[in-house]
Amino acid sequence: MATTVVVGAGPTGLLLAGDLAEAGLDITVLEKRPAGLSNLSRAFGVHARTMEVFDMRGLADELLSQASYKMDRIAAFGNAELDLSVLPTGFPYLLVCSQTNIERVLLDRLAKLGVEIRYGTEVTALAQDADGVSVTAAGPDGEAVRLRADHAVGCDGVHSTVRDLVGLPYPGGPVLKSIMLADVELAEPPSAPTVNTNRDGFAFIAPFGDGFWRITAWNRHDQADDDAPLRLEQIAAAARQAFGTDYGMRSPRWISRFHSDERQVPRYRVGRVLLAGDAAHCHTPAGGQGMNTGIQDAANLSWRLAAFARGADPGMLDGYHAERHPVGEEVLRSSGRMARMATLHSRPAVALRNALAPLVLGSAGITRRVAMQVSGLGIDYGSRAGEAAIVGARVPDHRFPDGARLFERLRGGRFAVLGGPELPAWGEHVAFLPATGRRSEPVLVRPDGHAAWSGAPDGLERALRTWCGTA
Ligand SMILES: Cc1cc2nc3c(=O)[nH]c(=O)nc-3n(C[C@H](O)[C@H](O)[C@H](O)COP(=O)(O)OP(=O)(O)OC[C@H]3O[C@@H](n4cnc5c(N)ncnc54)[C@H](O)[C@@H]3O)c2cc1C
Repeated sequence: MATTVVVGAGPTGLLLAGDLAEAGLDITVLEKRPAGLSNLSRAFGVHARTMEVFDMRGLADELLSQASYKMDRIAAFGNAELDLSVLPTGFPYLLVCSQTNIERVLLDRLAKLGVEIRYGTEVTALAQDADGVSVTAAGPDGEAVRLRADHAVGCDGVHSTVRDLVGLPYPGGPVLKSIMLADVELAEPPSAPTVNTNRDGFAFIAPFGDGFWRITAWNRHDQADDDAPLRLEQIAAAARQAFGTDYGMRSPRWISRFHSDERQVPRYRVGRVLLAGDAAHCHTPAGGQGMNTGIQDAANLSWRLAAFARGADPGMLDGYHAERHPVGEEVLRSSGRMARMATLHSRPAVALRNALAPLVLGSAGITRRVAMQVSGLGIDYGSRAGEAAIVGARVPDHRFPDGARLFERLRGGRFAVLGGPELPAWGEHVAFLPATGRRSEPVLVRPDGHAAWSGAPDGLERALRTWCGTA
């Protein structure tokens, strides 16, 4: 049985571990935090494509049942708004939901699959050879833990040890210093999530749906180091400066100051070791895309590792870097653009930004393009010469005449064939379904909801061998 060591039990590692366990791989999850210690709710926004990723695992309803708030509009500059309700998905909004709740849903899934996380276990060394990877960690009592696996995946966050151990640089640098955040109760809450920017800084406030609000604020006149003491009054002052009121904020359950870097590794794969999530890329929180991109990295990698274990084309694992590195690059670019626009200082530049934003986002075409990019729904991995144009594109969910949906049929890491001949030998890993549009040729859909192949029906068996491994 193929074995994988997943390093790090943040959202990226948890999703990956669940997928690999569901696919029947033998996995070990190592996490340096002690059991029960929260990873803190840094992220608080789940975008539409991540909701679809959860739906393809039967976890969307559970996530929606957690305390949360659906935002179908994101306020931008100068009264402009990004309308997410136009998104062509069952989840046309940003779900404000704490990272703790998101991790809880993923942890419950792992528990149901019988996967135990080895908490208090910190990876310290790693070596690979032609046959496998050797991972060494320090266990909870300082004892040496030694593991041997076919692959190791570093989901160990922005300070990734795995990245260092395979000798990869993390080029880039700081963008914003001293971003303040607090999760607070409000005596006089606003009627909706609110954002404001002015020449001195910006602030954003949104409800978690559990009585607490997340406020994120930045003030160019309050630029202390991350570990400098931070009092609620400083955040309240930043809120008053941005909104004209601090909404009577009180009772913080978390208060913190952080800085934001923009970095990306040059390679997501070094032999048998792969990197995903913050270990591979980090950027500003603008647009709320960090955790979402990590979860989507995991969704792209998990079925590849499973297919590879079943003997699929060895190029399968290289496809992970080829597809996800450009996505990470684009997220760095777009979130960096937003952060730089939010922190403009010169009066003419601020006036121009505020005048242009409503005009730009007033165009239906541009709104849709921006919403598709931020939500992750616009990701299209593209086709190569000679491949059908649909290859690489996201295949939207579809309800079939028997009432089942495509995303339901992809659960358990299955592929789907739309409109092709049924090949019963592949039934364990592939759902054979009716065509969803007017397309005359069958389409092979990957477990992450992107098209893998389309062509003449007699090419289907070969495509299945390439993408899914043995029947
Ligand atoms: C203030 C703030 C707000 C944010 N808001 C958003 C948002 O709204 N939307 C969004 O998408 N993203 C947001 N992000 C980013 C988001 O929090 C991260 O992108 C996300 O947590 C990354 O997940 P991960 O699983 O890759 O890494 P992490 O969550 O960092 O998890 C890595 C895990 O690896 C473990 N680990 C580290 N080293 C080792 C080792 N050697 N051995 C074993 N275990 C190890 C760590 O203990 C940790 O649990 C925000 C970030 C910040 C700071």
